[in-house]
Amino acid sequence: MNKIIFLGTSAGVPTRNRNVSALALQPENSKAWMLFDCGEGTQHQLLKTSLSAYNLSRIFITHLHGDHVYGLCGLLASKGMQRAEMPLEIYGPPGIKEMLETVMKFSQLNLPFDLKIFEISKDTTMRFEGMRIVVVELSHSITSYGFVVIFDDTPGRFDIEKAKALGIPEGPLYSKLKRGETVKLPDGRSIDGRDLVGVPKKGRRIAIGGDNDDPLLFSPFAPYDLMIHEATYTQYDFDHLPRKFKHTTAKQLAEAAQKMGVEWLILNHISPRYDKKGRVSELVEEAKRHFDGNVEVAYDFMQIEI
Ligand SMILES: [Zn+2]
Repeated sequence: MNKIIFLGTSAGVPTRNRNVSALALQPENSKAWMLFDCGEGTQHQLLKTSLSAYNLSRIFITHLHGDHVYGLCGLLASKGMQRAEMPLEIYGPPGIKEMLETVMKFSQLNLPFDLKIFEISKDTTMRFEGMRIVVVELSHSITSYGFVVIFDDTPGRFDIEKAKALGIPEGPLYSKLKRGETVKLPDGRSIDGRDLVGVPKKGRRIAIGGDNDDPLLFSPFAPYDLMIHEATYTQYDFDHLPRKFKHTTAKQLAEAAQKMGVEWLILNHISPRYDKKGRVSELVEEAKRHFDGNVEVAYDFMQIEI
């Protein structure tokens, strides 16, 4: 199973219980892990988990607002102090390269590992071991992206017993059959590999949102097994804000998730007002009224498997 750990779930500023945005994804059977957003203090949060900066291999940044990026420089410096050698790749919106390189230059931060910074744009597709990640352009007060993580399908199980019973000699023929190819046996019979391989398991599909006021922008890649998206306010509170910000409400997110065929919805990036006043359940209750699947509100160090 792939593991996700929420490292920061508060919007804008931290509270006593919640830090600002960061989310870890550790793919199955992989020591290396990925980070989505890196708010200030993310490296402190990491110390309370089983993850270490040492094994961090990729960072994806949704947008350049401080509550999503101010933790980067500290994290990089600490990773450097650990004499980490694993190369690190950072993917983020235009400006991320200049932002980081400027800080690194003035604070003379020399890293012992290879750092590559890539500026992404709408529809950038990245191919990694066992998955691809597609960038979705969102709607916020500055350029903001979401990431769709699409794990590869797992091939069906190869029926060795059946192959043996058919008298197929073990060896290179098996690998061809496992790939679903048709092979010719020395005795002249021809065997279709598809008859020996079970149904492939569909790879999981996860939507991870940055700040955004239109969750339906994730529609082109729907449906999703899991959607993790900001729900900064309840609809009532949003409607009564003296000044509107480009964020999503629990109701709006739930309605969009319902339309997009989301199975499991996690509300993230919640306004500090809910945490400070013990009102977090209002968000989930509102979402439940508009969404039939599994729904919950993320909290710091919440860990899930998918
Ligand atoms: Zn934010």
